Amino acid sequence: MSVTLPSPTLPSPILPSPALPAFVESVSAAGDLPPVGPPGFSTAQVHAGVLPDPGHGARVAPVHLGAGFVFADFDEAAARFAGETGEDEGYVYTRMGNPTTAALERRVAALEGGAEAVAVGSGQAAISTALLGLLRSGDHLVAADSLYEGSRGLFRENFARFGIEVDLVRDARDPRAWRDAVRPTTRAFFAESIPNPRNDVLDVRLVADAAHAAGVPLVVDNTLATPYLLRPLEHGADVVVHSASKFLSGHGGALGGVVVTAAGALPGTVANLEEQTAVLGGASYAQRYGERAYPGYLRALAARLGPTLAPFNSFLLQQGIETLSLRMARQSASALEIASWLEARAEVDRVDYAGLASSPSHALARRYLPRGAGAVLAVSLRGGRPAARAFLDALQLFSRMTHLGDVRSLALHPASTTHAHRDPVELAADGIGPGVLRLSIGVEDVPDLLADLRLGLAAARAATPVSATGVAR
Ligand SMILES: *Cc1c(COP(=O)(O)O)cnc(C)c1O
Repeated sequence: MSVTLPSPTLPSPILPSPALPAFVESVSAAGDLPPVGPPGFSTAQVHAGVLPDPGHGARVAPVHLGAGFVFADFDEAAARFAGETGEDEGYVYTRMGNPTTAALERRVAALEGGAEAVAVGSGQAAISTALLGLLRSGDHLVAADSLYEGSRGLFRENFARFGIEVDLVRDARDPRAWRDAVRPTTRAFFAESIPNPRNDVLDVRLVADAAHAAGVPLVVDNTLATPYLLRPLEHGADVVVHSASKFLSGHGGALGGVVVTAAGALPGTVANLEEQTAVLGGASYAQRYGERAYPGYLRALAARLGPTLAPFNSFLLQQGIETLSLRMARQSASALEIASWLEARAEVDRVDYAGLASSPSHALARRYLPRGAGAVLAVSLRGGRPAARAFLDALQLFSRMTHLGDVRSLALHPASTTHAHRDPVELAADGIGPGVLRLSIGVEDVPDLLADLRLGLAAARAATPVSATGVAR
């Protein structure tokens, strides 16, 4: 078996994990077994991406905390700089590449079915780096309106200041709405696979087709689905971004972000990749890296902008990913059970969870999320803000936090926190009214979580005038 080593110019190529190809080859060669396909997700999540530690044989990817890496001599220094970025054959400086981070990148790329990944310091850094790789001043982005507030703010305020215009598509399921938003300067589409708290699941194929008809790539934020539930690249998306701080890590102990790119060139032309640049000796990224021009450019862009992922966080994120399938299966199943239970409670007006048959996204969830609809749901209390306040304050097991994807269950009142700056009428129209709470279901035992929610509902009931709900005390 030959292990494909990283090219001298770019780190983190396609899954050069020695364990997996050797395993597949040996099992196939055993003859009496049918040929096996690629290893399953749970196998890949613990084996993909790790290169053996030649020094000591460490099984887990070692943590390389160094800022920089030694050059043996004058020529090696020049050669590594000529490669421009660090990789397993020779790193330069951690902002340009680090072996612990490279192991994380290979693993996430493998799990998403992508060709390559670039890890950065947070989910927000992943989104801004991925999009600034595609866009420049004067360009236009079309995004689904159902967005993480951090992304909405980035697009509406910061991108506007950079001269990048953004249009938000209200009905992401209407292909004409995407088509109508396209301008001659449109350079990318952006959407989330499972937006929260509404859980209005993305029709990835529909939006990818609309993007490709416009000659631009589709970037999908896959944070809430994770590759265990959905692999957007398999449905036509060109780029996937993650906040690794959430489900990928699961432990809530580190921030991180990852951009994953599909194999092959991006649709359309990206000016950033075509422009000649001095650091490549007058070549363009497209000329130098061919189909890998975009991840090559992203790596250089991240090295310049500087949202470097700390190597220790790379290590922590890998530890989390090793149990991703187990957590997602458990947390999705628990979320469905809890959503069904909440939906039947008198204090509850509505539950937004795509796993429920009552959800307008249920058909899309069945198509795109056969392993589960994720672990984040929104529950709308009849008693409005006073009920939501009483509910939240009565919880003992759920943590009141703006975070999600943790092994612990978390609760948040979006209208008074993450979305407090938004117009209340607009918010209510978006399904984020004053009585809405966002719940991120952890791995705790469901009966314990239900007991805690019962405390919340009892408090909500006590805080709600009977006239407001018609619900008897
Ligand atoms: C949290 C989150 C982000 C931002 O990620 P950070 O790691 O907090 O920077 C982006 N998108 C979605 C969907 C998120 O939930």
